[in-house]
Amino acid sequence: LQHKIEHQQALNVVGQMAASIAHEIRNPLTSLKGFTELLKLKADEESRMYLSVIDSELQRMEQILSELLVLSKPTSMKVELIELDLIVKQVIEFMLPDALMKKIMIQYISSSTQVYIGGNENRLKQVFMNLIKNAMESMHNGGTITVEMNIIDCAIVELKVKDEGSGMDSKTIQNLFQPFYTTKSTGTGLGLAFVKKVIEEHEGVIGVNSEIQKGTCFHMQFPIYTFNQIDSLEVSTKDSAYLV
Ligand code: ADP
Ligand code: MG
Repeated sequence: LQHKIEHQQALNVVGQMAASIAHEIRNPLTSLKGFTELLKLKADEESRMYLSVIDSELQRMEQILSELLVLSKPTSMKVELIELDLIVKQVIEFMLPDALMKKIMIQYISSSTQVYIGGNENRLKQVFMNLIKNAMESMHNGGTITVEMNIIDCAIVELKVKDEGSGMDSKTIQNLFQPFYTTKSTGTGLGLAFVKKVIEEHEGVIGVNSEIQKGTCFHMQFPIYTFNQIDSLEVSTKDSAYLV
């Protein structure tokens, strides 16, 4: 319980900061992105290379900002029917070029397609991206990341992200979901706090197994939406568009 209270208190601090910081930074960031695009049209090849670095750094800033925003309370999100299999595949495809450069293979094992959960596509994608990114950052000598989807019973789907990386000591395992907890020199410590919050918003749970030098496995479970719930979900999203 103490742990939970500390988690909540830390989130409140993040929330207050995020609200003010986000407003101040979002707008100039958007204009920087716009002018970077314009510059690209005029730039020669060398300058275009620099501009694409600027672009990806701006994107990183935007991502940190959006994680801070979600961690700030209260949040609302648009809820839709999500085909889990599909968005997992899209995220893997998106991450693959980066992974291959680090000699990392991403393997996807799925026992079934057309499994639906209720949720927000962008946030869920961000969740899977954060988990795969962490997995990649733990594998300094290449290897394989395995993403696995299994139906537990007709009501629950399980998703695992397993790496062959450095693993974690017990102190890290205890703290990894705390906002700002990081063991990396350039880490924000926001990734997994965001992951946990979003998964809980989706009525899901997340847990972790890890062994030093062997690797880490994050496992999540989500409720599967049946056709009855699909109907009611469609009605409720039409009525209110947003669920808080
Ligand atoms: P960041 O990646 O910015 O450090 P995160 O919240 O994503 O923040 O992760 C918190 C910490 O949890 C990391 O700094 C790292 O120590 C640990 N961690 C998370 N995922 C893994 C993993 N797959 N393997 C090893 N350590 C991990
Ligand atoms: Mg991270």
